[in-house]
Amino acid sequence: MTIPYGRQSISDEDIEAVVGVLKGDWLTQGPAIEAFERSVAEYCEAEHAVAFNSGTATLHAAAEAGGIGPNSLLVTSPLTFMASVNAGRYLGANVELVDIESATLNLDLSLVPDNADALVPVHFAGLPVDLASMANPPALIIEDAAHALGAQTPDGPVGNCANSDACSFSFHPVKPITSAEGGIVTTNNAELAERMRAFRTHGIERRPDKGGWYYEIVREGFNYRLSDLHAALGMSQMAKLDRFIARRNEIAERYRAELGDAPLILPPAAPDGFVHGYHLFAVQVPERDRVFAALREADIWVQVHYVPVHHHPVSKDIPQTAADLPNCETAYSGLISLPMFPDLTNDDQTTVIETLKSLL
Ligand SMILES: *Cc1c(COP(=O)(O)O)cnc(C)c1O
Repeated sequence: MTIPYGRQSISDEDIEAVVGVLKGDWLTQGPAIEAFERSVAEYCEAEHAVAFNSGTATLHAAAEAGGIGPNSLLVTSPLTFMASVNAGRYLGANVELVDIESATLNLDLSLVPDNADALVPVHFAGLPVDLASMANPPALIIEDAAHALGAQTPDGPVGNCANSDACSFSFHPVKPITSAEGGIVTTNNAELAERMRAFRTHGIERRPDKGGWYYEIVREGFNYRLSDLHAALGMSQMAKLDRFIARRNEIAERYRAELGDAPLILPPAAPDGFVHGYHLFAVQVPERDRVFAALREADIWVQVHYVPVHHHPVSKDIPQTAADLPNCETAYSGLISLPMFPDLTNDDQTTVIETLKSLL
């Protein structure tokens, strides 16, 4: 049987939660949305949480609410999913990629230019970027924490926005918890939260002063709503988040112990005071393409995260090239994400470890 690199973990309670919504009055924008938002805000120790129908939509909304537009410069990592870049691109902003640090695979904060209007730090694989260490932070920081719900920094949980304006999460099935599709953005800024709520629903403002039926569309908005079905699943998953993260850390410790002597580079561990989310366990191996093909041949469905942003044809609008991003290029040439998800069995992990070792 195929062993995937990531997979959701769905229980009977999750299924009952979704069925409960189907039997109720609200299929969208009902009480499950508010409950899910509250649950994530409380977990993250943030004042506000706004749910969207994808993580990508949360990044778009946060950048729009933060004032990013055609003359803005948005800076992010080249080792990420395109959604981090599209937060700026959708708004006509200029995007600049800064190289990663080899030691953390996260973007190198010391390379962020002084004229950046917005920074989108990506907590790669679930290891938080150390934002508290940043000397001259730009005016707007939107954390791309798609990998990092449940991770911790010395300042508290990722999502508390201790060193950012907003923090974006994704609930795609392979992410720390899932709502099938969906995302939430947390913030401590009430104005940002309100603007993102309007952006989610067509830019609508209710005007009861002009009649109970009256509303105005004050800005261009989108239909970025999450349904209550999705929110009920996400809400039910929140109860298991800490267990999921503990299990991911346990799997990581075993990989570290048993692959420590193999000729590969292990992923960066969490420094003191941090808890790693371990969305991914991304090793770097020599002859990656051969090893990748052989693992797939053995029914171990590894993946590579990521084809760097600047390698994609759509990124011809970004000035940085491979020559500007040497650490990213080096990492990319060796990266393979090994199976990492809470329901990975010990036997399957043994198969992965033994197969990988035999190939190196
Ligand atoms: C998953 C992911 C997103 C958002 O993804 P959605 O599929 O839109 O929820 C954004 N950034 C990164 C780094 C991701 O891995």
